[in-house]
Amino acid sequence: MGKVVNSIKIFCIANQKGGVGKTTTAINLAASLASHKKRVLLIDLDPQGNATMGSGIDKNNLSLNIYQVLIGEAGIDEARIRSESGGYDVLPGNRELSGAEIDLVQMENREHQLKQAIDKVAQEYDYVLIDCPPTLSLLTLNGLSCANGVIIPMQCEYFALEGLSDLVNTIKRVHKNINPELKMIGLLRVMFDARVTLQQQVSEQLESHFGDRVFKTVVPRNVRLAEAPSHGLPGIVYDKSSRGAKAYMQFGAEVIKRVKMMDKENGNRNGN
Ligand code: ATP
Ligand code: MG
Repeated sequence: MGKVVNSIKIFCIANQKGGVGKTTTAINLAASLASHKKRVLLIDLDPQGNATMGSGIDKNNLSLNIYQVLIGEAGIDEARIRSESGGYDVLPGNRELSGAEIDLVQMENREHQLKQAIDKVAQEYDYVLIDCPPTLSLLTLNGLSCANGVIIPMQCEYFALEGLSDLVNTIKRVHKNINPELKMIGLLRVMFDARVTLQQQVSEQLESHFGDRVFKTVVPRNVRLAEAPSHGLPGIVYDKSSRGAKAYMQFGAEVIKRVKMMDKENGNRNGN
């Protein structure tokens, strides 16, 4: 009804477990979507600054970063930097961000700082991807409260399912109390080794438990993906013929397709 439909998609890449492939997924999904001609902003919400470095931007040499954005001292338009290698924009982060947690606690609207900043540049992007830290902290909460959805990378290990329930519960709570838009977009199996029987078993369990919430793409364990960040390049740029690169290219296409489907479902529900 005359409402401007803003089709921008904001996704958190989250899992409170450390080292599961969040940053690798965030960087390579950003680069994959960019190669599909999408306008992408990658937000580094982790004080480790790995998404920043892996996009070819020196985290130790930033005049502005996401910290100033979160405390309202700068806009994203001032702090963002282009990743020339990846073809997307980066809102960079570094260890200054660990102080944000303390500053935010004292602020009004503390869960909504990031959302307010994104709203101002939203029309410039098709996708905003947020690389979350391995915690369920106020930083992650800022990410979840402005996102339309969460993409959860996970390794198919024995305790993976157990860890997942904390995250799923957090998503449910944020959905209920702060952000009714928030959905779990899907689980992405990463660092997968098909020769390991246990991984196959966990993978099958995931499919039977979460159904089509599990992405079809499976990202294999591939050393080229691990080497790429030290060159400041996304894996899909560093060695685009590698199995890892091909998987993330396919994942980008799958995300675009899934988003189209979700938009259609929403459209139907709204009666248009
Ligand atoms: P953190 O919780 O510390 O932020 P993370 O979840 O972001 O970690 P990554 O940094 O993406 O995880 O990955 C952890 C390590 O595994 C890195 O050294 C990365 O290069 C490597 N890695 C990620 N995905 C793959 C893969 N598919 N094959 C091989 N190595 C991978
Ligand atoms: Mg990370």
